[in-house]
Amino acid sequence: MEIAPNLHRIEGLTGSNVVLLTGEQMAVIDTGMPGNGELIVDYIKSIGRSPSELRWIVLTHHHLDHSGSATELHGMTGARIAAHADEALDSGSGELQLRKGTEGQHIPFWYRWIVGASRRPASQRPDFPETPIHHALNDGDALPDLPDVEVLHTPGHTPGSICLLVRGPNVLFLGDSAINNRDRISRPLMWNRQHRRDLDASLRRLRDLEAEIASFGHGPHLEGEVMERLRSLTDRPYDLPTWRIVLKNWRTLRRFHASTRRTGHFEGGRPGGP
Ligand SMILES: [Zn+2]
Repeated sequence: MEIAPNLHRIEGLTGSNVVLLTGEQMAVIDTGMPGNGELIVDYIKSIGRSPSELRWIVLTHHHLDHSGSATELHGMTGARIAAHADEALDSGSGELQLRKGTEGQHIPFWYRWIVGASRRPASQRPDFPETPIHHALNDGDALPDLPDVEVLHTPGHTPGSICLLVRGPNVLFLGDSAINNRDRISRPLMWNRQHRRDLDASLRRLRDLEAEIASFGHGPHLEGEVMERLRSLTDRPYDLPTWRIVLKNWRTLRRFHASTRRTGHFEGGRPGGP
């Protein structure tokens, strides 16, 4: 599905939204859960392009539902994997690996319940693949050969979360830094108050951008008054104790929890997202 010129959302995949940029140099933004590689390659062929033309696999952040197919897609196409430097760990041999997310973190039970992450026994959860980072990104970077794609470092949801501004008609890719609940844009639920403060500082930085379309890690893209809606999000208070946020958003969270029970939706079994 073409959401803007040279910008296709690939449907029928599991996990996050996956968007293909089809200019002279091709790139995908996020890959969804493990197992999507072949479908992404099929899509590239279906629009008359060659998978070997795929130059970049750009990850908005490390969560499995976004990064799960990066390694397999790299193997199938040769495209290089790019993520923010703060999503990388040094593997010890000097090569960068994508972090797996929950190292050293204690995730509260209630949070795991809400994101539907505790419903499968550990043995049935998909494993995080080893994901090399071939190119570490920083704020303000453009990707080599893709000067129309600007990287905006927006820590909060994860330390190295990025948004991407693709110029053309301007399309802002928010990853999981904001969620589209259809009726309004909201912030993702996070249990850590400091992370929420970081996210809010990041979202306030986006206020002055100009974008006609917003694309999210989950849910449909939005057109029209995109920046007004994003600004009104940062006008709403968020620096509250977590229990107050849960109470305020209880109905939305119930809906979200129900949606995570569908196969392949959101994290598919691992804490850390959406
Ligand atoms: Zn996430």
